[in-house]
Amino acid sequence: MHLYVHIPFCHRVCPYCSFYKHTPGETPIGGFIEALGVEAAKRANSLEDRPVTTLYLGGGTPSMLSPTHLIRLFSLLREAFLIDDSTEITMEANPATFGKRTASIYQKLGVTRVSLGAQSFHPEVLKTLGRQHNAEDIQESVSLLRQAGIPRLNIDLMFSIPGQTAEMWDDTLNAALALKPDHISAYNLTYEEDTAFFDRFKKGEFIDDSTLNARLFDHARTKLTKLGYRHYETSNYARPGCQSAHNRGYWSGADYLGLGPSAVSTLGGRRWKNIPDTVGYLAMINRVGHAETETEIIGDEEFRLERIALLLRTDFGVPMKHLSSVPLENITRLVDEGLAERAEGNLRLVGKGPLLVDSITEYLVC
Ligand code: SF4
Repeated sequence: MHLYVHIPFCHRVCPYCSFYKHTPGETPIGGFIEALGVEAAKRANSLEDRPVTTLYLGGGTPSMLSPTHLIRLFSLLREAFLIDDSTEITMEANPATFGKRTASIYQKLGVTRVSLGAQSFHPEVLKTLGRQHNAEDIQESVSLLRQAGIPRLNIDLMFSIPGQTAEMWDDTLNAALALKPDHISAYNLTYEEDTAFFDRFKKGEFIDDSTLNARLFDHARTKLTKLGYRHYETSNYARPGCQSAHNRGYWSGADYLGLGPSAVSTLGGRRWKNIPDTVGYLAMINRVGHAETETEIIGDEEFRLERIALLLRTDFGVPMKHLSSVPLENITRLVDEGLAERAEGNLRLVGKGPLLVDSITEYLVC
């Protein structure tokens, strides 16, 4: 089973971010950690299988947790589940939110991957994104994590940010590559509802330029793959052996359990979402021991469509069994046009295919 823990706290809210998050305000962080422990124990009791293949601490900003809170959280999770040396443990971290001592605590707690939310190395772009760190903070964070002995590092980057030129994107890629990360995530900025960026997009202040998006995507793909990074998912690149097992599990439809406000779980064909409200989460956990609000049963057809949408984004591709209702001529057309190939029983995108993944998905499922 894959385990996700959502830590909703951020120092400040970035104007493009649509995740459930907030500044800590009056939230009792110690009480929040204990509530996660209660939820973990309760869920674990109802599971037949408690070994955890991967644990992912996301948010929000998990690196905002103090060492005391982090140690307590890991202790509660280890009491509830079987987490051992084979578990991939990823923690999202913001540059400049941790120091030498904290980095060494991550290592002692068994963290095997840190995913650093760098986004850009360019001061103007970081300002547009409302980020608090600068390029030196990213470099310093990488150095601290390496010194602490964290085995794997991911650097999160973003392109098509308002005001970002192709040269700025190239500079950011070069700066990230100079740090020799094991993994790079390169996301195309999207304008998500209920964000300040979305409002500005709606007013016409920002534009979504698909030609520029394609150019920047292609530039990253060419550059990173030439340097030995495998483009194993639309937005993800890894050195050999350094892919994220957590994400792989999610894309392939493995069971996962999410803890914390707004976290989603899918176990045994049932999906539920926790209340996206920290105060409400604490109240529900204290009252009934869980924070589940929306529940649905994932039928075969829904599972199949999800696999097509997610696996088409990967270099693994979609098993042909999920495409049995797609007319054969549609698949043949993609192959003939050099956008996809059939290999080992899967259909996978090649050439310009990954660039067109959204429209190809629609073409296959509609
Ligand atoms: S992008 Fe990260 S740091 Fe910024 S608000 Fe979202 S979760 Fe917090």
